[in-house]
Order: sequence, then structure tokens, then C-alpha cells
Amino acid sequence: MTSNGLSIPAERVAAAQSMVGLFSPNTRIVLTTHVNADGDGLGSEVGLWHLLHNRGCLVTIANPTPIPDRFQFLLPPGADASGHAAKEIGKANAVVVLDISDLGRLGDLGTAVRAAGVPVACIDHHVSPGSLPDGPRMVAPEATATAELVHDLAVALGWTIPTDAARALYVGLLTDTGGFRFSNTTPRCLRVAGALLERGLDPESIYEQVYASAPEGRVRLLAEVLGTLVVEPEIGLAWVTVPPGAIERYGATADDLDGIVEHPRSIAGVRLALLFRQIAGGKVKVSFRSMGTVDVAALAHQFGGGGHAKASGASLEGPLADAQAKVLEVARRQLAGG
Ligand code: 5GP
Ligand code: MN
Repeated sequence: MTSNGLSIPAERVAAAQSMVGLFSPNTRIVLTTHVNADGDGLGSEVGLWHLLHNRGCLVTIANPTPIPDRFQFLLPPGADASGHAAKEIGKANAVVVLDISDLGRLGDLGTAVRAAGVPVACIDHHVSPGSLPDGPRMVAPEATATAELVHDLAVALGWTIPTDAARALYVGLLTDTGGFRFSNTTPRCLRVAGALLERGLDPESIYEQVYASAPEGRVRLLAEVLGTLVVEPEIGLAWVTVPPGAIERYGATADDLDGIVEHPRSIAGVRLALLFRQIAGGKVKVSFRSMGTVDVAALAHQFGGGGHAKASGASLEGPLADAQAKVLEVARRQLAGG
């Protein structure tokens, strides 16, 4: 099967076919993604929302945390039911979980999804053991982004991708590749992005919405966090810490931290960059990024987290200083050893 010279891998075609039975007209489908939805989680949801809406499904998006302001431009009116997400999941005929394969990353909605008693489909590109209730799967860790898989689902099923869906999926590819820069910027990713642009998108206006419409507080928060930079050049380690209370002081949100860890990572010779911050429940969230061969998925895994080889995360018990000491010790040992 091809579209714009793109072929869809056979296993993705099979996965799409395993899922299509859920998407009959008038069925209630709830789409959800991980806590603190990013551009790929949200873009994949919005892309699939349009595709399923056009099939006559009654689709809503129900996320565990509010949708960040900079992605609101993608949301069709009335699509976001995150304010009453658990209730929405309770009414669903099927749930589609995007950009994660683990119940744990669904925050408070994990319980509702487990209790729903309906098929739970999953479309994801993470390396994960998976802990969702039964349902069809389209899981491909080699995919650039979940948005690539939603694109492939549509093409495999012969569905036209409307412009609004294409825009959302393009945002997924754009953000998960750090603006088409990271190692997951495959030739295929750029072909899919090209196919999406051909649906009539304006890349500059998308760039402006996603990366150049920040509130002032986002930049001031960045300045304060970068002020905490510590570098250990002899082993190629660098990290920054969000000072407790800083997000609130700038009227910012967790989404405003997105991309900050790229700064310590950008220093010459740094092979492992970390960002630490306090989150709810006395926990500490760590973002891991690597340059080169350090496998941060394995590193995050040691702390109960996961992700990709070059970008991963984990949540640890606090307090902040203790979690930091624990992670730094393991990181230093790993860097010194290899
Ligand atoms: P970030 O550091 O930007 O929050 O996340 C980077 C990558 O790591 C993402 O692909 C995300 O899915 C994964 N990740 C972040 N936090 C966690 C976590 O607590 N658990 C797991 N399993 N993966 C995470
Ligand atoms: Mn993703």
C-alpha cells in the first residue's frame, strides 16, 4: 500500500486491520494519552479524532492532565472532555491509548481504563512491557512518533487524512524529533511529514503556534532553571534542576519545561543530560537525554521509568536532594564505566 511513494510495513497494516472493527459509526470512542500530554500524544489524539469523527464515531479526548495552551490551536471545538475524563471513559465502547503502553503513565485515569471493561486499543512507539487491558495493538518502537503510526493507520485503511488531522500529526512529528533534528528523524519520518504538508499545511504558522507563542514566564523560568546548571566535563555529565516553586512563581506549567534539558545536552562533550524537578505527591521527576551511545531508556528503567534510548524519564520518591543524589551516583558510575 502506498501514498506519496510511502509503503506501510505489513505488520502495521495488520495492526490497523485488527483495530478497524472498533471504529463503526455511532460507537463511543475515547482517546487518551500520558500525563502532561506532549505534542506527539496530543497531535496523535487530534489526528485520530478527525479520522474517527469522519467515520461517524462519537469521539472524545479524555486526558489525565489539562492540554497545554500551546497545543490548544489543534483542538476541534467540543473534542476535549479531559475535565470529566473518568466519566467519559465509563461511557465508552472502546478506548484508544496513544503514545504509551503503560497504565501507570495514565495517572488517575489508570483505574477508570482498567475498570471500563471495553477493548483498550493502543497505538505507541515506546519500548515497554505494556500493562494495558486487552485490545488491539499497533506498537512499533522503531517509529519516529505515535503520529507516524496514526498516519500509517489511516493510509493502511484507505482513509483520506483531512487537513486538520494532518496538521495535528505534523505537530507530533515536529515535536518528538525536536524540530526534525534528533536521531529519530528518519528518511521515512520526513516522507510522512512531506505527505502531511501536501494536505495543505503552512509549516511556519505551525512553528509559530508551537514554538513562538510562549508567555513571558516560560522564558523567565528557562533563565532560572539554566542558572542551576552543573557540568562534570571529565565524564560528560550535565544537569539542571527546577527550583521548588519556580513553576508556580512564573505562572508556568510542566509544558513550559519542555526542551530545557536540550540546553545541558547541547554542551560540547556532554553525553548525558538530566533535568530534575519536584512533582505532586512528594515525588521527583527526572528527564534523561543522551548524546551518542549512552542508553537512557535502560538508565530510566533502573528507577522505574522508561522511554527511548536517547530520551527517557522516571519518577522517584523524594525529597529532591535524595533523588538527585541517587540518580547522579548511578549516572556517574555508568559514564565512568563506558
Ligand atoms: P520527558 O523527559 O520529556 O518527560 O520524556 C522523555 C521520554 O521518556 C518520553 O518518551 C516519555 O514517554 C518517557 N518518559 C518520561 N517520563 C517517564 C516515566 O515516568 N515513565 C516512563 N515509563 N517513561 C517516561
Ligand atoms: Mn511520542
